Amino acid sequence: MAKSHVVIVSYPMQGHVIPLMEFARRLTNEGIKVTFVNTEAIHKVVTSNLEEKEGDLLHMASISDGLESPEDRKDFRKTLKAMVEIMPGKLEELVEKISEEDRSKVTCIVADSFMGWVIGVAKKMGIGSAAYCPSSATTQAILMCAQKWIDDGLMNSDETRLIIVGIPQNNDMIQLCETMPPTKPSILPWMSVPGVDPGLLFQFSKVAAEECTLADWILCNSSYELEPPIYNEFPQLLPVGPLLAGTQKDAKQTGQFWQEDSTCLTWLNQQPTSSIIYIAFGSIATFTQTQFEHLALGLETSNRPFMWVVRKNENCTFPDGYVERVGPRGKIVTWAPQQKVLAHSSVACFISHCGWNSSLEGVTNGLPFLCWPFISDQFLDAAVICDTWKTGLGFDKDEEGVVTKDEIRRKIDELLGDKVFKDMALELKEKVTCSIRPGGSSYRNLCGFIDWVQGKESR
Ligand code: UDP
Repeated sequence: MAKSHVVIVSYPMQGHVIPLMEFARRLTNEGIKVTFVNTEAIHKVVTSNLEEKEGDLLHMASISDGLESPEDRKDFRKTLKAMVEIMPGKLEELVEKISEEDRSKVTCIVADSFMGWVIGVAKKMGIGSAAYCPSSATTQAILMCAQKWIDDGLMNSDETRLIIVGIPQNNDMIQLCETMPPTKPSILPWMSVPGVDPGLLFQFSKVAAEECTLADWILCNSSYELEPPIYNEFPQLLPVGPLLAGTQKDAKQTGQFWQEDSTCLTWLNQQPTSSIIYIAFGSIATFTQTQFEHLALGLETSNRPFMWVVRKNENCTFPDGYVERVGPRGKIVTWAPQQKVLAHSSVACFISHCGWNSSLEGVTNGLPFLCWPFISDQFLDAAVICDTWKTGLGFDKDEEGVVTKDEIRRKIDELLGDKVFKDMALELKEKVTCSIRPGGSSYRNLCGFIDWVQGKESR
């Protein structure tokens, strides 16, 4: 019987559930029992897509998010309010129930770093805790510095309304630490989520990051080699990744909200080595019709074969006759087994929105990127790819804010025409894969955490 039991709580979004499920798998591989907690709505979707049972040590559970309808869930303000008011009590009840029913006691509660309140529940119950960051360490470090930025006068704070507004005071570049490239204030993660008040998001993210600092561990799905200045400056952040199913023998990516179209792997098998442009923008990014058409035409005029993920909930339509015109040269799928696609030898480059998971998946497979960030931390990730890793290029927008078809074709040619991007990507892949192999820095950090969970080491 497993002696240790870990409860993992994920934020209800695709880009959170996938990496946290992979983290759960690493614990169950070591004989640790895991209860994986989603909100009820997400639990339903995730469990319906779990093909095979993930083994006896993983138990999927759910708690109510306190919201009444899917409409309410689209309202960020309501979601956040319910999350901090309703969910802590529900989680406490669940952990109590687990402890009564199961003789393996809950040794640790792991919070998605976006759900800092979970650490408060663990503290209240006298249980060890860890925060797991599915976004970059750079993002987490920026959020951890939010108060300092207010104190230094870089961000405003409206004390009279008891609201910390968190808006940069001017356009001066912000530098988190000396060894990191300066950052434009407009790309800070809370500044660019359409339909969400930046002040609200700033306050929520700041509080969550502060709560995470109370945990026994702050683990990052990243490696030292990917963000060295951050780990040097913030030693409390501990890289344990990239933890990806693709790097485990025979392991399948789990936690998907949509059914994967595996026929695309057969199509990839028929393509020449390093020939395919893979285009995917994660689970939430959406296009205007004009932008969608430019992308479609840019890919068509590139005259290269491509695979493009167009989600079912994407409301745009292809230009007239497009699918027939591109024919077998363009494979369009609604949801791909992305980690397997990126690991395929036919793929040459990745046009990506630069969500942190996609960024990790691309870098672990030694792929150069064309970066097309949409919201939140994707802008920071794109800056890391282009400026720090130097494995990608960004797109320039025209005066209407559109990335034109000509710009798309030009950047594809530039990226694939200059060997330096692929060489840098392969160099980084080697460093990153070393860090997760036995003896590597991420591997050792993960072992340290697992030993602590199993009571072999104290902290
Ligand atoms: N993904 C996938 N199939 C697709 C597109 C994306 O499996 O067709 C996965 C991808 O591998 C990644 C996750 O969905 O693990 C998206 O996370 P990311 O952080 O890149 O973006 P987000 O969805 O959070 O914007």
